[in-house]
Amino acid sequence: MKLLLVEDEELLSKTIAKGLGMLGYAIDCAYDGEEALYLYELNEYDLMILDLNLPKVDGMEVLRRIRRQDEEFRVLILSARNSLEDKVSGLDSGSNDYLTKPFEFRELEARIRSLLRRNFTTRNTRIVCGCLQLDTAAKKSICCGQEIELTRKEYALFEYLMVHAGKMVSAEELIEHAWDSEADLFSNSFRFHIHSLRKKLDAAGAVGYIVNQRGHGYRLECPKEVQP
Ligand code: CA
Repeated sequence: MKLLLVEDEELLSKTIAKGLGMLGYAIDCAYDGEEALYLYELNEYDLMILDLNLPKVDGMEVLRRIRRQDEEFRVLILSARNSLEDKVSGLDSGSNDYLTKPFEFRELEARIRSLLRRNFTTRNTRIVCGCLQLDTAAKKSICCGQEIELTRKEYALFEYLMVHAGKMVSAEELIEHAWDSEADLFSNSFRFHIHSLRKKLDAAGAVGYIVNQRGHGYRLECPKEVQP
């Protein structure tokens, strides 16, 4: 899952980005409202964490402009403005959630998880596909009854494929959601990670789950007869 963090306090931004990065999220950072809108136009994000007091373009204005184009896009306001009025106006302007500073990192993480889940067909944190299971809260991947160890990149790819199980997703889409914009986008690197993910699933007994259709992308197949 790829997030855009909009926060002008550099130290706070770095701390949040590091913490979320360790949890497997791909994070891009914007330090003012203008940069936020620029990156939003340029990339495909699953969620935006938005500070309100920002240089150049205020956070509320950023939110308003995004809402004009996309009513579904998830935005979590993270702000020091903590009056009830601010919260109500933030939610009225179309933010999906509002967290005031200072905050506990664990709470931020839980709120992000909950917002991202709203996209899924089920509110459950557990996704099942044949003998594969993914617990998005515990970040646990289970294959044929046993837990498998995935690297961060493999996990990001696995999660995206699980959420979209049965659908064809292009390599570009997978890269968009699993890689930071600044990361190395050479397709060799992508192929390397998807190949090693496939190898791990094969070795654990989920042979042929990831189907590759040249020129189209990848699809996670869930055989109906196999029950976890
Ligand atoms: Ca600020």
